[in-house]
Amino acid sequence: MCEAPGGCGGCAVGSAPGPARRRPAPVCSQPRPCVKCGEGAAAVVIRVGDGFCRACFREYFVHKFRAMLGKNRVIFPGEKVLLALSGGPASSAMLRQVQEGLSRETAKRLRFVPGLVYIDEGAVCGQSPEQREQNLAQMEALLQETGFPYYLASLEQALELPGSVLRRGPGAAGEPCPSYKVAVEGFIQQRRQEAADGDGDTSPAGLSTQHGPGGDLAAPRARLPAAALTAELLRLFEAVETLTAKEELLQMLRSHLILHTARTRGYPKVMTGESCTRVAVKLLTNLALGRGAFLAVDTGFVDGRHGDVTLVRPMREYMAKEIAFYNHFFGVPTVITPPLSTKRREKTSIHRLMESFLLGLQVDFPSTISTVYRTGEKLSAAPAEAGSELQRCLLCLCALDIAGEEELALEPTLVTEETGNGPESRAAFIPLLCYSCRLTFKEMGSPATLPPYVRAEAQHRSCRARMKEQIQEFLLEDDEEEPGAS
Ligand SMILES: [Zn+2]
Ligand SMILES: [Zn+2]
Repeated sequence: MCEAPGGCGGCAVGSAPGPARRRPAPVCSQPRPCVKCGEGAAAVVIRVGDGFCRACFREYFVHKFRAMLGKNRVIFPGEKVLLALSGGPASSAMLRQVQEGLSRETAKRLRFVPGLVYIDEGAVCGQSPEQREQNLAQMEALLQETGFPYYLASLEQALELPGSVLRRGPGAAGEPCPSYKVAVEGFIQQRRQEAADGDGDTSPAGLSTQHGPGGDLAAPRARLPAAALTAELLRLFEAVETLTAKEELLQMLRSHLILHTARTRGYPKVMTGESCTRVAVKLLTNLALGRGAFLAVDTGFVDGRHGDVTLVRPMREYMAKEIAFYNHFFGVPTVITPPLSTKRREKTSIHRLMESFLLGLQVDFPSTISTVYRTGEKLSAAPAEAGSELQRCLLCLCALDIAGEEELALEPTLVTEETGNGPESRAAFIPLLCYSCRLTFKEMGSPATLPPYVRAEAQHRSCRARMKEQIQEFLLEDDEEEPGAS
């Protein structure tokens, strides 16, 4: 068996390295030449019959990243971009692409200004405080080495988020307003000016703004949060009835923390590292979770649901296998963290079922993942626009796919089990949620255990909804306007 990729230079390796499923090893025949340069021995097979040597594979990998950004033109030159890192293979490879891109010669250089964020989720993954400390230290060393500003947060900090994180920021409602071309020209102009003023831009892009206004904040504290806060987080997860809802809760807390970091540190763009494999799993999972209406925002290249902060998924055309090879060949370090911890006898989650289903199929039908991925691309459509925050889901911030009023008839059990504090009743949350989040919400335990920021914002919205109802007859027009819009 070809244990390590490149272990036998010419072997056309068919399966990913690492803990992935193994098939009977392909027979090592003559070392085939690289289809690109015709010189090096093929070390990786990208598509059937296309064996690349290491150097060409690296070039292909790096080019793909640049091409993805170039094609979509969402990231403007000089813009601050926050890379959300998990320590896993895909986001680690993403970080390396950004480092590669910034160090290239001028014509091909990436021109944005990166920052890094890592969320420590050890508390809900069954790690001991010692293991968490160790993990954090390891991760911090990696982040520090890049020279980029970085932020460390723990999942516990989600409990201290403000309710406003659930509101859409004052961004453009639709497309980003300044055209890409104008932004590029402005950037070039500015660079010329700087070159004329000083002795040129000798510092690599991305490092220069570290000391700008608010840029010297790279003073992270790799310390664990207070034990009481960890206990509160664990209570929150223990109250959740199913592993599926726990996975959703974890994703929600993580994404809100990242969003909050981006907002408070002034990053208008966030890059996440979902691979093609991850996107395919997410597509099917979200379909099963009743999020069909949001597939485009949940998995597309651009996710603009937050208004002021745009999420970008530049790794979504890389297969997990490609990423594994790349990391292995070029020594990209990763930090492995365990998945969400489960109680014994707990049923598995829809997320994990979908993953093992797809990866299982992929073993015998190697085009499974890419077929699902491409199908998702075709299904993608512009989601319905929401006029006001009352028309957006409280938890996922997507435009509500259910008209608020029709669902108010709830099972009596839901209402009676509450202890009588009005705004905290389950029934009060339902009209604020999309179809899928309602399903998840029903498995999340009593509203009293929800994160404080969710409860605060729910109260705020219920209040506004009531107020709107009361003044309804005095309003001239029915359609509301986004606060701040004129
Ligand atoms: Zn080659
Ligand atoms: Zn929702």
